[in-house]
Amino acid sequence: MADLRKIIHVDLDAFFAAVEQRDHPELRGKPVIVGGDPAGRGVVATCSYEARRYGIRSAMTAARARSLCPQAIFLRPRMEAYRDSSRQVMTILRRYTPLVEPLSLDEAFLDVTAATANGVLAVQIAREIRAAVRQETGLTISAGVSYNKLLAKLASDWRKPDGLFVIPPEKGLTFLSPLPVGKLHGVGPATVRKLSTMGIHTVLDLRNTPRETLIAQFGKAGAWFAEIARGRDHRPVQPSRARKSVGVERTFPENLEDRHLLLATLQDMAERVSARLQAQGLAGRTAGIKVRFADFRTVTRAYTFSQSIWRPETIAACLPGLLDNAIPVESHVSVRLLGVTVSALQAEEESPSHLGQMRLLD
Ligand SMILES: [Mg+2]
Repeated sequence: MADLRKIIHVDLDAFFAAVEQRDHPELRGKPVIVGGDPAGRGVVATCSYEARRYGIRSAMTAARARSLCPQAIFLRPRMEAYRDSSRQVMTILRRYTPLVEPLSLDEAFLDVTAATANGVLAVQIAREIRAAVRQETGLTISAGVSYNKLLAKLASDWRKPDGLFVIPPEKGLTFLSPLPVGKLHGVGPATVRKLSTMGIHTVLDLRNTPRETLIAQFGKAGAWFAEIARGRDHRPVQPSRARKSVGVERTFPENLEDRHLLLATLQDMAERVSARLQAQGLAGRTAGIKVRFADFRTVTRAYTFSQSIWRPETIAACLPGLLDNAIPVESHVSVRLLGVTVSALQAEEESPSHLGQMRLLD
C-alpha cells in the first residue's frame, strides 16, 4: 500500500560551531572547532564547514584536528547557548504541526500530513521553516522532505549545508539504489563489513538479496534491511512529552529602541499567551520575557507567582519590572526580538484569586 505521509527532517548545519560564529562575528569564515581541549584527550563535538575542508570531523580527537589544521580556533562548548537556540528552533517547528519529534538539540522529524491536507505543499512548509529559522535565530537549517523518516533524513543530508531536497514517492527507489548500504538507518560498520563479504555494497544489491537470506544472516535486523532497501519505513513521528511552556515571540523587521514601544509589544504578547493558555485550559506559575539585542546577545528574565496565572492583566503586570531588569533604564539598546512565555504549566485551577496574585507584585 502506498505510504501517503508527508515527513520533513530538519538538521541545523554545524550547529554548535554555527552558534559560536553567529555570536562572535570575528569567527565567521574561520575554521572553528567546538569540543575538548586539543592538549588533552578531548574530541571534536562540532566543527565549522571551514574546518571540514581540512578533513576534520565530529568525534575525531581534538589533538588530531589540531594537527590537520594548526590555525583552527578551539572553543569549549556553551551548552546553555545551544539549548536556548534549540528551544527556539523547536518552537518554530511546532507552529506547523504538534507532531514534532526532536532527535537531538539540532535535529527533528515533523509529520506534516495533516498540515498539507488543505493543499499546502510539504516543500512549502520546509521552505517557510528554513526562512523562519534563519530570520529568527540567525542559523541555517537543512531540510529533507519525503514520505517516511528513512528518506526524509537522507534527503536533509543531500544538499547540506543550507539545503532543501525533496524525494517524492515515485523517486524513492531510484534515489536509494546507488547509495552505499552504510547510509541506511540501522546499518552500522560491522553490518557493512558483513554485507560486503556477501557481495552486497549498494542498496540495490541489498534489494536484490532475498529477504530470507538477510533474515538467516541478521535475524530480525535482516527483515528491517529488506524493508528499507525497498524504501519502506512505517515508523511514526513520535512527538515529545507534554509541553512545558506557552510562549509567543517575534523578530522585528527593524530593530526597536523605544522603551514604551517595547513594553507595549510585550503587553500585546501577554494577551496572546493568555489566549493560548485559555484555549488549552492551561495555567502556569512563571511568566518570563526574552530579549534579543541587535548583536544576537539574548537575555531572559522570569517572575514566579505563588498561584496560577493565565489572565492577560496578571501576566502583563510583571512585564515592566522584567523589562527594566533585562534592559537597565539608562541604557540605550537596539532590540531585534522579544518574547513572552508562561511556564511551570498545570491544568487551570478552580477560581484562583486574581487579586492575590496582584499583591505579590508589590
Ligand atoms: Mg546538525
